[in-house]
Amino acid sequence: MSVTVRFAPSPTGRLHAGNIRTALFNFLFARAKGGRFILRLDDTDRERSTEEFARFIREDLTWLGLHWTLEVRQSDRFALYEGAIERLKRHDRLYPAYETPEELELKRKRQLARGKPPVYDRAALQLTAEERARLEAEGRKPHWRFLLEQRDVVWDDLVRGRQHVDAASLSDPVLVRADGTYLYTLPSVADDIDLGITHVIRGEDHVANTAPQIQLFEALGATPPAFGHHSLLVGADGQALSKRDRALAIEGLRAEGIEALAVTSYAATLGTSDSVAPHASLDELVPGFDFAKLSRAPARFDPNALRLLNAKLLHLLPFSAVADRLRTMGVGGGEEFWEAVRGNLAVLADARGWWQVVEGPLQPVIEDCELCRRAAQLLPPEPWDGDSWATWSAAVKQATGAKGKALFSPLRFALTGRETGPELKHLLPLIGRERAAARLEGKTA
Ligand code: GLU
Repeated sequence: MSVTVRFAPSPTGRLHAGNIRTALFNFLFARAKGGRFILRLDDTDRERSTEEFARFIREDLTWLGLHWTLEVRQSDRFALYEGAIERLKRHDRLYPAYETPEELELKRKRQLARGKPPVYDRAALQLTAEERARLEAEGRKPHWRFLLEQRDVVWDDLVRGRQHVDAASLSDPVLVRADGTYLYTLPSVADDIDLGITHVIRGEDHVANTAPQIQLFEALGATPPAFGHHSLLVGADGQALSKRDRALAIEGLRAEGIEALAVTSYAATLGTSDSVAPHASLDELVPGFDFAKLSRAPARFDPNALRLLNAKLLHLLPFSAVADRLRTMGVGGGEEFWEAVRGNLAVLADARGWWQVVEGPLQPVIEDCELCRRAAQLLPPEPWDGDSWATWSAAVKQATGAKGKALFSPLRFALTGRETGPELKHLLPLIGRERAAARLEGKTA
């Protein structure tokens, strides 16, 4: 049986650091097993779902490199859900109920007051045909509940281990609202059956749906897939992440200059005891993925840890991984420039600043006029290479008697206008003799 998984966001908002883990785990698991990764857009809520959010979801997944093999949209699949509804009715597993939300709320309060769990009492099952007809004549429209079998439901959760749920402790879930629209429960199962989903990997906010869904699979004549529910994310302060926090939306991270590979490298280790480490490709993450590593405790998302990881990732990326983007940013200098500056970048856009240092025009900072003038005279003839800096600075040291910080600081300030930065050994050949000489003389170059 080949593995088929799905990532099923609702296009009612943009992807968030929280649901990226769901997408990534599905993707990595499919990769590891040579399986299929389906993107399912859960857009049965026609009012809140938009084409624009669907586009953003595709865009964000593509940016992250999480490519899917097939896309389906629930709004194209209503015939399938109708069929499932008919089948449930035929097998007496779906029944109409007429209580208004207020009546249900009252029942719940009474049950709680008597110290009982607020489970739906199935009063609708007792209605006679005449009573139903009367309610409908009053203008009441039924919602439809799935009749649960009152037995233990057991599954071996890929993350949480063996789970037992006593279905008698659950209310029969509403599958179809009074206005005829579907709740999420049934379309999801009908799709999982139709698409041959073998593993449902999702957040633990869906654990409570699993027992009723397992019974639905069975009622629809299918074998339930395996389930894995990963823990949810909390912020560095331990508080649940707010969906409105734009900085944690993928677009926000992207706008800040965080690399897609930093996001995926970080998301893959969150909630595991693996150390946070940069990975230069998604393929590198595949062998390390294992449900057994995922902790059941909430995973802490720390934007600062992600920023640090982003810097570490840039420090190891080869030129080939960034060449196109550097070109688009107007940054030249090729591989030599990249290798000289990558260790000094927090985000790729910082490369622009260093390119400006190399290319100019740059206003030098002259700390020690005398030393700089002397240093300019001692600049060796070109061509320059990786040794030119050592030869030249040794000559300046000998000529001026300056050493240590008193030698290096004025040279760095004059050549780069900054106190710190990439090794001058690498920068000097890129700056070149003409610009170096002008800057040492205090001229903008
Ligand atoms: N649309 C649901 C969600 O975004 C999918 C849940 C599932 O994976 O079954 O939470």
